[in-house]
Amino acid sequence: MKMTDALLDLLFPPKCPFCRRVQDAPGMCPACEAALPWIDEAHSLRELRGGLLCAAPLWYEDSVREAILRFKFHGGVSAAGPLGELIAQAAAERLSGEFDAVTWVPVSAKRLRQRGYDQSRLLAENACKLWGVEPERLLRKVRDNPPQSSLDSAEDRWKNTEGVYEAAGEPAGKRILLIDDVCSTGSTLVSAAGVLLAAGAAGVVCAAAAFPRPEGENGGEKGKE
Ligand SMILES: [Zn+2]
Repeated sequence: MKMTDALLDLLFPPKCPFCRRVQDAPGMCPACEAALPWIDEAHSLRELRGGLLCAAPLWYEDSVREAILRFKFHGGVSAAGPLGELIAQAAAERLSGEFDAVTWVPVSAKRLRQRGYDQSRLLAENACKLWGVEPERLLRKVRDNPPQSSLDSAEDRWKNTEGVYEAAGEPAGKRILLIDDVCSTGSTLVSAAGVLLAAGAAGVVCAAAAFPRPEGENGGEKGKE
């Protein structure tokens, strides 16, 4: 992605990150707020492998999927604010009292140079604004693995995330909220959470902007980077 895309996104009049309509203020427009594929309460908290909990506010489909893909690959950084707020709300509703520190699933240094920003870090920063705290870097991505979305089988996705992250900073003793953009198979979050726990974290819970709908429920599309 070119840095100019991100700059244009910031310089031009604010657009709703979901429908791209120009509006007076940044953030999601009222029409999208009403129409987005919100996850019902029964599905907004998922138990991943090993009992790791992950909360998310939206289904990964339609304008949500488009906004997240623009955000990840085409400099659509204006989505970070609204998506970060929604992640914070989902975490507060479903995981309140479970964490006292916030971190994110990082991209590699190489990807950061190419893209110009770390999308999950931006989500974590925007989520933390609501709480008046700062996210802490507690993970480093040490191996540039193929994108998860390029792999078809769940088994390949699980293998692909092994040995990719290392602990950074001081996770020991902290109860950590780990933020990522999309939680698909959960393999990335489980792998990253395992690293934090191995480094002495007292607990890890997760939040993402979106889950793909479960297989058989209108979609089940693969989507994680
Ligand atoms: Zn809109």
